[in-house]
Amino acid sequence: MQESQSHNSYKKAQDFFPGGVNSPVRAFRNVNSTPFFIESAEGSQLTDLDGNKYIDYVLSWGPMALGHAHPEVKEAVIESLNRGWTYGAPCEGEIKLAEKVRSLIPSMEMMRFVSSGTEAAMGAIRLARGVTNRDIIVKCDGGYHGHSDGLLVSAGSGLATFGTSSSAGVPEQFAKTTLVIPMNDSPALEKVLQTYPDRIAAFILEPVAGNVGVIPPNQGYLEKCKQLCHQYGALIIFDEVMCGFRASLNGAQGLYNIIPDITVLGKVIGGGFPVGAYGASKELMKHIAPDGPIYQAGTLSGNPTAMAAGLKTLEVLEREGHSQAMKNTDILLDGIKEILNQKSLPHCLQRVGTMFSLFLCEGPVENYQDSSKTDGKVFAQFHRGLLENGVFFAPSPFEASFMSSAHSDQDLAQTLNAINAAINIIA
Ligand SMILES: *Cc1c(COP(=O)(O)O)cnc(C)c1O
Repeated sequence: MQESQSHNSYKKAQDFFPGGVNSPVRAFRNVNSTPFFIESAEGSQLTDLDGNKYIDYVLSWGPMALGHAHPEVKEAVIESLNRGWTYGAPCEGEIKLAEKVRSLIPSMEMMRFVSSGTEAAMGAIRLARGVTNRDIIVKCDGGYHGHSDGLLVSAGSGLATFGTSSSAGVPEQFAKTTLVIPMNDSPALEKVLQTYPDRIAAFILEPVAGNVGVIPPNQGYLEKCKQLCHQYGALIIFDEVMCGFRASLNGAQGLYNIIPDITVLGKVIGGGFPVGAYGASKELMKHIAPDGPIYQAGTLSGNPTAMAAGLKTLEVLEREGHSQAMKNTDILLDGIKEILNQKSLPHCLQRVGTMFSLFLCEGPVENYQDSSKTDGKVFAQFHRGLLENGVFFAPSPFEASFMSSAHSDQDLAQTLNAINAAINIIA
């Protein structure tokens, strides 16, 4: 690593960017390591500056559900580029992507495209506050909804208390508008709704948690949350930035058949280009400017090239991509189970659709507190072992791993060999 091109680039990058990166988890600090720099990506594989190849289960943190540089998506992007790449005026690509999104997630009768998941969650929250005329947002501990001020808040001590800022630079006043409760704990939601019956605008949650590792909702949990929110005049927001088009093609809401008031999308919806969206019933969305008084805008929102990439990605996913990725996930996870059954290592494998996590702790993992039992040092060793064998899992015990339709049987077999080797180092 010392003399490698990646290492040289990392040194240079540190001169320009805090930690040498433009998004913190890319710095590999959670696995006590330093990042490799990418030269190119195709299909299931990343190639770094030194020519090392990795079978990729990070997939740009979720978006690349068809794998990298999918030929049909590439063609759609090039076709779009030939017609210019931003107009500042509406184009048909926006309608086409919206039609596709609504056909898969019908609760998004109307939507607004933005350029990231963060922005989409911000828009959804402003909408919820604007229509309810209330100020407090409830979120789950460990739930990630982007880096906006009011959502960078983690649990304080005790139930029904306001959160504390999880980042410097977030005023306590922001933290005082966010309540944090454990996931899969509907009594905790009921308690906060009872405590602030006229102040809670919405409960925002990842219906399948992904940013503390993959945690499915317990049986009946989502339904109970929706019922409680409505009983107290609050809205329920599903942040499906990660699980949308992954838990199922119809999102977590399609898989569990629970329709939220507002849906937030990102990642897969842009096929690797910057797209986010929030959407709801027409009745709610009519409150957004210019129809209504809730302001929200974006210079590059609905970008034609990004729309084309997102549309083609969803089309191919619907045609065959998602079922192929599901099959691949079955094969990989069956193989991992077989390996782990022969070891005495504490572990818990959790999966919903094409996202999965191998927790190195006893399961089941039902919330952030459970997932934080993973031993970080052991995970770092495991991660290093995988990389040395050409397999890239997320460089943090709290991140989900993703499958694509581009992973071949040979990739899966090689991955299982790598996992076996990495497990042998730690078990
Ligand atoms: C990634 C993610 C976000 C933030 O999306 P960005 O595009 O990184 O701003 C929000 N919510 C969830 C659930 C996510 O996984």
